[in-house]
Amino acid sequence: MGNSLRADLRPLTSKLALLWPVAIGLWPVGCTKDLDLIQDPPRAVARTTTGPWASMIYLARTDSGLVAIDLGWTGAEGVLEESAGDLGGLPSDVRYVFLTHAHRDHIAGWPLVRQARFVLGAAEIPGFVGDTGYLGWATRMSDGLNDYPHPSRDRVSIVGIGADTAVVLGRDTVFAFPIPGHTAGSMAYLFRGILFGGDAFNWRPGSGFQGARPEFSDSVAQSRESLRLLWDRLPAARVRVICTSHGKCAMADSVLRAQLLR
Ligand SMILES: [Zn+2]
Repeated sequence: MGNSLRADLRPLTSKLALLWPVAIGLWPVGCTKDLDLIQDPPRAVARTTTGPWASMIYLARTDSGLVAIDLGWTGAEGVLEESAGDLGGLPSDVRYVFLTHAHRDHIAGWPLVRQARFVLGAAEIPGFVGDTGYLGWATRMSDGLNDYPHPSRDRVSIVGIGADTAVVLGRDTVFAFPIPGHTAGSMAYLFRGILFGGDAFNWRPGSGFQGARPEFSDSVAQSRESLRLLWDRLPAARVRVICTSHGKCAMADSVLRAQLLR
């Protein structure tokens, strides 16, 4: 019995070894895709943080000061400083942060902009402050390897959003849409014709655009259903470009919308 168990375990171990790079974020997708579509200096810049996982930080200057969409991963501090500099400011000038979700690879820069008001899905707040974890198996494996800094509720200003919401920032408006599934509090934000969909949108070489990936998601089925509902209430003419939170962008059209439901 001992021998047959070992024989059974060997192929399983080698499969786990193959999956390991996915789990720890070393899949070779470090490049960006058509990020130029949303570059608009000195009004807005988008950069990805270091490493092959390439998480995007988008920074814009509005009448209400600097706003950020997502806060990246390793190297977020340098990216925030560089991008804020491009917009004539500092990370300490960021007034609002909009988080598509609070997985570790999208929040790392929070200590540098802790003065900001953090806007995120109401159901995402426990994950952001570290009270609860996530369900995707690769996410759980990665989070189990080492902890990472979370803000505490009484040290930062957090605004939870539970329904479609418009946040007016002078001449700009951020339209916020709950799209639960990838995580319970995943959000999509429409800003200046760009739809930021977090990891409910995904792009890989070969397969192209598709919806949330199962290994990192709480519920793929719920994420697809959320996008179906979003497409129903978001007029096509309002969205010029769609971007994943890993710096993969494309012109928005009906083909792309269909691909993201796959
Ligand atoms: Zn994610």
